[in-house]
Amino acid sequence: MSEGKMRFGCLVKKGVAEVRERDLPEIGEYDVLLKMKACNICTTDYGQWLGLREHQGYPMAGGHEAAGIVQKVGSKVADFKIGDLVATGYEGCGNCSACRNGQVDQCEDIRKDTEDGYRWGFFGFSDYCVKSVRGIYKIAASVNPAEAGFLEPLATVLHGAKKLRLKPFDTVAVIGAGTMGLINAQVAKAYGCRVIVSEMIPKKLETARAMGFEVIDCNQADPVEEVKRLTEGKGTDAVIAAVGVTAANDQGLKMIKEKDGKLLLFAAGYPAPELHIDSNEMHYRRMELIGTFGADNEDFQEAARALSTGVVDVSKLIEEKTFKLDQIQEAFEEASKPGMYRVSVLLDQQ
Ligand SMILES: [Zn+2]
Ligand SMILES: [Zn+2]
Repeated sequence: MSEGKMRFGCLVKKGVAEVRERDLPEIGEYDVLLKMKACNICTTDYGQWLGLREHQGYPMAGGHEAAGIVQKVGSKVADFKIGDLVATGYEGCGNCSACRNGQVDQCEDIRKDTEDGYRWGFFGFSDYCVKSVRGIYKIAASVNPAEAGFLEPLATVLHGAKKLRLKPFDTVAVIGAGTMGLINAQVAKAYGCRVIVSEMIPKKLETARAMGFEVIDCNQADPVEEVKRLTEGKGTDAVIAAVGVTAANDQGLKMIKEKDGKLLLFAAGYPAPELHIDSNEMHYRRMELIGTFGADNEDFQEAARALSTGVVDVSKLIEEKTFKLDQIQEAFEEASKPGMYRVSVLLDQQ
């Protein structure tokens, strides 16, 4: 890096990602300087690149699925030392009532623009980055940095699992074997559940099978009938809809057991999917429809432990083809192709 500067990838308009340079912010008492290692391209990132969800505005310096090595610590930093591998979470202001409750995702500050006009300034796609200790979590040094970058998505899955109140030996169907579907499936497994995954894209079917799940190929069988067959006609205790489409919602409502079933609406879709249910059916079937989004500090801490100990294995959810920071545009092109798992930008490679 040139002294005091950081280079970073940002979205400047629909379909265009470029590398820019700015002054590296000062390292405050509770800040660290990170030498960034990897940042994965999230659906929200490439969704904006594709022009499907542009509400975050431009220039958008996103990249919130990142990991780096602590290079310098502020004078009052106690929990981190030089050389630690850390992954990024949500920073929050630290002072509002949401932050003080640990509900950092409800802090109004987390999507604040930077003074130099960057929207949603996560700066995950950067060579060097200054972060507050409020928004970083230590990951075991043995973990591949691209896998450490799964901290935030995993934390959001753990948040949903808690809302769903999964119990050992519950049967859970996960609709969709994309990145978030298979993280959800792994977490349900870690909770001691029987997990059935439904999917239609051959590559994703293969990955779900390689992870050891019971898999329904929607090209071969009707997923609702197949779930019923696998559960002796009963249906599942819970369904996690990990694709934001109306068909997944329709299937989920039919896959859950007749009484006391729970449907977790994990994914958003654009345009917004429909939910075909009336309140009488919810009432008589004593059904729970649960929405989830985001993660709190406790979820981030659990996610850091789950990645560090290998309880959740995300290694199969990273595409083999990786990119350098200077290839940020190609990386977004690749990530936007249908059927991709996470595309990783390796930030320490020239
Ligand atoms: Zn994300
Ligand atoms: Zn706050």
